[in-house]
Amino acid sequence: MFKYRIPLFLQLLAPSYTWKVHTNDKVLYFTFDDGPHPEITLWVLNELKKFNAKATFFCVGENVSKFPETYQVILNQGHSAGNHTFNHLKGWNTSDNDYFLNTEKAAQFIKSSLFRPPYGRIKPSQSKVLKEKYKLIMWSHLTCDYEKNLNIKASLHQMKKAGPGSIFVFHDSEKAFHNLQILLPELLTYFSKLGFRFDVIPNEK
Ligand SMILES: [Zn+2]
Repeated sequence: MFKYRIPLFLQLLAPSYTWKVHTNDKVLYFTFDDGPHPEITLWVLNELKKFNAKATFFCVGENVSKFPETYQVILNQGHSAGNHTFNHLKGWNTSDNDYFLNTEKAAQFIKSSLFRPPYGRIKPSQSKVLKEKYKLIMWSHLTCDYEKNLNIKASLHQMKKAGPGSIFVFHDSEKAFHNLQILLPELLTYFSKLGFRFDVIPNEK
């Protein structure tokens, strides 16, 4: 029902999560989940550079352990990283203890106070503990770039309704790359022309 955009009333129902950044400035927060990937992440970084854009990458610990050089390039270029568990676990199907251990394991590779639950699925018992240590970052705008038969026009139409402080989700993954190659340059161009800049999500707890 609320495929692309999270309505305000749902955001207000779950106040312990960050759905958007409260600001009146023309700034957007692009986030990239599930990387790093040795080719796709570098493609993303190159696109961002063309617009002097900074972004936040919610990395899967296992991928950081496989591609540490790619992870380092993200940080070296002034972007920030967040924890997305080590094995991309779905909280609803995972015991609290396993979920915490897996997040801790990822934290050995990803130094960050930002956390995003994979699939946005997390039990209240899990978020209650994790929010002691992390800022829990959700999103206001989901591009759905991972969908095989995505209606690109519909996605772009919804994304273009974003305003100051909106948080977008993209994926630097093989599944999403086909759509990402269209969505990302288009949205960077569109919002740049409107005078927006793109920044990392504030990291302070
Ligand atoms: Zn994910």
